[in-house]
Amino acid sequence: MEDTFKHKGLRQKLVNILKDKNIKSEAVLKAIGKVPRHLFMDSGFLDHAYQDKAFPIAANQTISQPYTVAFQSELLKVTQGDKILEIGTGCGYQTAVLCELKAKVYSIERQQELFKKTSKFLPKLGYRAKKLIFGDGYKGLVDEAPFDSIIVTAGAPFVPKPLLSQLKIGGRLVIPVGDDVQIMNLFIRKGQKEFEQHEYGEFRFVPLLENKN
Ligand code: SAH
Repeated sequence: MEDTFKHKGLRQKLVNILKDKNIKSEAVLKAIGKVPRHLFMDSGFLDHAYQDKAFPIAANQTISQPYTVAFQSELLKVTQGDKILEIGTGCGYQTAVLCELKAKVYSIERQQELFKKTSKFLPKLGYRAKKLIFGDGYKGLVDEAPFDSIIVTAGAPFVPKPLLSQLKIGGRLVIPVGDDVQIMNLFIRKGQKEFEQHEYGEFRFVPLLENKN
């Protein structure tokens, strides 16, 4: 598990690409500049690790595109110590970026293989999520609610109600909504039953699966 000057150099180039694509948050860019993305992929894929592309990983899943991770992270407006729920841990790359942003991260994954692998892997890199959970993200995590923000990293066919209700007042839910193509949505909780909704551009994610699938 090496992180060499070569890796660091490639990572800086990636950060510059994200800046060119209009990612503005210095904190997010700094976090992306720190997380050794190549270690989240199977060895042999170094040539791909610092391209701005999604990439296949175990269990038919993907590591999200760096631009997508940066875009969603920026929408969360993370401040130090924020309690954040992530749905779709996958390989843990987004989780690591949130840890770099000094959030307290809770993350749910429904694939046992990935859950086990990532639970072992993240601490090896020094990334300590508050809790990694094997379970169904549609339900959120009622025992730990409310959250400062919630990020969904799989394409949701609809917005699960529990996620909205587990936000603090002022809290933010960032969720890609749609079937084949998703629209990035931001919900800000304004009151017990009031939410402000913003829509951003199109993205493509693997689907947020319901337990019956
Ligand atoms: N956050 C990851 C992206 C993972 S891809 C990254 O940084 O690269 C999306 C993940 O969501 C997959 O691992 C998939 O297994 C998981 N997923 C799909 N449906 C889910 C559900 N209902 N609950 C929790 N995780 C789910």
